[in-house]
Amino acid sequence: MIELPKLPFAKDALEPFISAETIEYHYGKHHTAYVNKLNELIKDTEYEDMSLSSIIRSSDGAIFNNSAQVFNHTFYWKSLSASKSAPSGKLLAKINNDFGSLEVLKEEFIKAGTTLFGSGWVWLVREPKGQLAVKKTENAHNPLGSHQIPLFVCDVWEHAYYIDYRNLRPKYLEEFWNHINWDFATKAFDKTDNDIFIGTEPCNDIHDPFCQVLDELQNQDRVTS
Ligand code: MN
Repeated sequence: MIELPKLPFAKDALEPFISAETIEYHYGKHHTAYVNKLNELIKDTEYEDMSLSSIIRSSDGAIFNNSAQVFNHTFYWKSLSASKSAPSGKLLAKINNDFGSLEVLKEEFIKAGTTLFGSGWVWLVREPKGQLAVKKTENAHNPLGSHQIPLFVCDVWEHAYYIDYRNLRPKYLEEFWNHINWDFATKAFDKTDNDIFIGTEPCNDIHDPFCQVLDELQNQDRVTS
């Protein structure tokens, strides 16, 4: 049984970047529907008692689509912050090393989101060898299958921005950039900045430490019922 995680901020906390109306639909309808559908699909199957990351990494079709969308949305809420912040310390040093500057990363990220055709997601990820990279994924796809560690994600499905920005996806991406939760990104970076994740060959065991960390990040502040 997969639970709908609690929204990490009040519905109107991100206004005017994202309206309470968008959150009501996006979290209250879309995210909730993916959780409900997933639970319906995995009932009485081998997936029923697996962690979310394990389901994503071992399924396909509707179970993959719904489990990945549950993960992606939870990660998206955690990627957002009402206040403007900036990376610092080791993460900032890594960004400067791998992209040249924070400004270059911003340009790459917004370009990736603008040029993604159709529905999908834009991620800052850490490659299995440690390198930071911008990745775009289509529809429900996410970096978990390729052993990339996500640090933050922007939802570029139209339902994420159409109420507030209509067709202006680049404007939404610009505003997203000003509302990244760098504390969360730093947490994900720090948790995976060690030998288990960096510099070793990826392991394909679905119960490996990679999944454990993602499940931990995912399960913080979950709703208990
Ligand atoms: Mn969405």
